[in-house]
Amino acid sequence: MKVNYSLAVLLPSAVLASLLSGCAINDDGDEHVGNNHVSFEEFLASTYQEPESGVYIVDGDLPFENLDQLREFYDGLNIGQALAVHRSGNSDAKWSNSRKRNLTYCVSNSFGGNYNTVVYAMANAASDWEFAANVDLVHVASQDGNCTASNNNVVFDVRPVSGVSYLARAFFPNYSRANRNILIATNAIGGYGVWTLTGILRHEIGHVLGFRHEHTRPEAKTCYENSSWRALTSYDSKSVMHYPHCNGRQRGDLVITGKDEEGAIALYGAAPQHALRAVNGTHHVVAEGGGGGAAKANRPHIRSWETFHVNHLGNGEYSVRSINGHYLVAEGGGGGAANANRKAIGPWEKFRFINVGNGQIALRTINGRYVVAEGAGGGALNANRKAIGAWEKFRLIGL
Ligand SMILES: [Zn+2]
Repeated sequence: MKVNYSLAVLLPSAVLASLLSGCAINDDGDEHVGNNHVSFEEFLASTYQEPESGVYIVDGDLPFENLDQLREFYDGLNIGQALAVHRSGNSDAKWSNSRKRNLTYCVSNSFGGNYNTVVYAMANAASDWEFAANVDLVHVASQDGNCTASNNNVVFDVRPVSGVSYLARAFFPNYSRANRNILIATNAIGGYGVWTLTGILRHEIGHVLGFRHEHTRPEAKTCYENSSWRALTSYDSKSVMHYPHCNGRQRGDLVITGKDEEGAIALYGAAPQHALRAVNGTHHVVAEGGGGGAAKANRPHIRSWETFHVNHLGNGEYSVRSINGHYLVAEGGGGGAANANRKAIGPWEKFRFINVGNGQIALRTINGRYVVAEGAGGGALNANRKAIGAWEKFRLIGL
């Protein structure tokens, strides 16, 4: 994700205007992209290369691991071909079926005071893709103290950088471990203009899943990159992968559109859905209205309001998201009611799933209380019990 820093520094209030006023001309040579009168040597000389990794960065945050990849990119410029997935050779750059549900990552402790901000921004950005398609990004906190590009206990690392030309940059699924990093510039931590850090990371995780900039498609009429991609949907000028300043039409924070979801499903399949059945075997947890209000445990049927997206956040903790996108919350972190009305994951929206045998689980809140179906089901859903008895057991049913 790239913006024009010189404008931003001089005119902070004009950030949005600069984003919306045509392709930013950057001091690292973005203006050359798409210009086939530039020789490869000139193109190379004007391309930003990260000092640490040697990765070349084109068009803001499009990474290339080495000279061969950069040359391939350059050779593909202006070939004249017409959400798009990155292509490597003749294959889609995508995760395997076995890996797509366990895309593990660490978040470097070197974020310091910003560590929790980054952890939750990653969780929420990932959750939005997980809500759409059959992928699961999993934070492995035990690796955060050694969160480097050479840590092979995770698929990728999330680290801070400074003095770079971008807000953040990611990678494609076919990249080698050393270059599978999400690097976040210090000045992106608090968000940038109308973009939250979560929004910026939604875009970067799109790359992690294999998605190219939507503005490389000819319909954008500007900011063309190259032809190493395959269309998954029709062109979407509002895509989370479309830079606003490249004739994009997404004006607020970077959100995943219906077409983005459609494309993600085309590549990875639809997100799995679950229901939670109370111990009486009859009643199910419901998000009233499909989410946005109370949660109860009193429905004898499973329809859309009783359908949830359950995703592993990492470290044995899960989020439970209603059909319309609201998260299950233990009010106060536990000790009171459970509702289904939160729009983001924070500490109160994380539940530790405890296997209690017999195909059942208990849901433990951040402060150690358990979710309970009052009366074993048929009534309220609370999050206030101090121990696991019969009423605190649920069956997680795959739909
Ligand atoms: Zn990008």
